[in-house]
Amino acid sequence: MSYCVNCGVELDKSATKCVLCNTPIHNPNEKTDATAPTPFAVTPIKVDAVKKKFVAIIVSYIMLIPNIVCTLLGLFFTEDKLWFIHVLSASALAWIVFVFPFITKKPRPYLMWAFNTVAIALYVLVFHAMGMGGGEKWYIGIALPTIAIVSACAFYFLYWARQRRRHWTSFVLHAFVDLVICLTVNGVCLMLSNHIVSGEIVFICDICCLALVFFWTYANKSKKVRAWLAKKMFI
Ligand SMILES: [Zn+2]
Repeated sequence: MSYCVNCGVELDKSATKCVLCNTPIHNPNEKTDATAPTPFAVTPIKVDAVKKKFVAIIVSYIMLIPNIVCTLLGLFFTEDKLWFIHVLSASALAWIVFVFPFITKKPRPYLMWAFNTVAIALYVLVFHAMGMGGGEKWYIGIALPTIAIVSACAFYFLYWARQRRRHWTSFVLHAFVDLVICLTVNGVCLMLSNHIVSGEIVFICDICCLALVFFWTYANKSKKVRAWLAKKMFI
């Protein structure tokens, strides 16, 4: 029985190098036996790739079942006729965001971005139409500008991320800058429309994110901090 001189792992008779650290094996007392059965498969086993489209279609059918049940219950068996609209609209949004991208042949990020923006705007409109959220004009005064700025930031993020390879700290910094922009717009809209949710709460979160923007700007520039973060976060 041989052991790796570098890492100490027990070695198989057929091995010519350590399976863990790739150190070559030289044991004058026990030569490598190439004919000995290996503990691993020599030729890679071919596994059929799971067809994402097929899985997405199955998931779509599964998602249909609770929707049909809830619609039938809502229409014929319960007095409150509106609750099942929440189930339908939430399912429709979840399908567009999480399932639909797997049905298209090629990844189409900009198309998905457009669909997601419209879907979220419509989803929030359903809430507004059902008289939820407090106040009258929150959809046009608060929800639409917030969705518009989030969507614009998401579009630029997509464009920026696809240009070239970037360090992961750049992505974190960009995400926090976007968050600051979106929170600022949302906070201003809340204050201007005198909504029951105070804009001040949003501004407090905004200031916290701004502090994180300063930190990540520094982290993004300093190689030392980057290396320290990578070590701490096991990247
Ligand atoms: Zn080794």
